[in-house]
Amino acid sequence: MSRIELTGLRKHFGATPVLADVDLDIAPGEFCVFIGPSGCGKSTLLRIVAGLEEPSGGDILIEGKRVNDLAPAQRDIAMVFQSYALYPHMTVYENMAFGLRHLRLPKGELDRRVQVASASLRLTELLERKPAALSGGQRQRVAIGRAIVRKPKVFLFDEPLSNLDASLRVKTRVEIARLHRELGQVSMIYVTHDQVEAMTLADKIVLLRPLEGRAGVASIAQVGSPLELYHRPANLFVAGFIGSPS
Ligand code: ADP
Ligand code: MG
Repeated sequence: MSRIELTGLRKHFGATPVLADVDLDIAPGEFCVFIGPSGCGKSTLLRIVAGLEEPSGGDILIEGKRVNDLAPAQRDIAMVFQSYALYPHMTVYENMAFGLRHLRLPKGELDRRVQVASASLRLTELLERKPAALSGGQRQRVAIGRAIVRKPKVFLFDEPLSNLDASLRVKTRVEIARLHRELGQVSMIYVTHDQVEAMTLADKIVLLRPLEGRAGVASIAQVGSPLELYHRPANLFVAGFIGSPS
């Protein structure tokens, strides 16, 4: 069974169509990357999966269950954004624990989850610091830690590395790949406009193309493994975007 199924998803803002004909399956544990030019609807599609945006049509299923009417917090999903708004007055520990406060976890479980996540992200030494005393890369790791402690089945990332400088981008990308292996059956959807990130991280790439007002034109240009898109682009748009020689 697929972890996530999108069927016939559509979205328009007013009269402007942004997404059309989106059908997509994401398996448990799959690392799926949404890529495409700026404004093609990557963030909108991610926000629809998260429940932050309502689709104009179509269904979102998580483990076979339709979740269109569920609030974001009820969807077993965690999201990491490009701007990782941490609470400035709280320590790293408190930032990571904050999202668990409603869960009424057994005593010790909250602390255990924060310790495990911070060890995995190499934040153990930094738990008492405030965000102002962290580097950009450390802050982004706290934002990822805050998502991990919730033990979601699905992880959504929207351009999580775009505020980092080049060398930190590479390091954090490697961390995210390692995290994905460690988490096992957690499915990830990762939005980027960076081909290198897409090619190195993805099991499956979903290349979106802008609709540019043409309702009914499919907004998914191609779905496939990085090698499939590179060696067998479905059309000129894909070939041009992925940069293969054909
Ligand atoms: P991407 O993440 O691929 O750059 P977005 O999903 O942010 O693209 O945006 C897709 C299109 O939808 C853009 O043309 C954008 O201007 C438009 N859009 C996004 N959010 C809104 C909104 N809340 N209201 C109106 N238009 C929007
Ligand atoms: Mg975006």
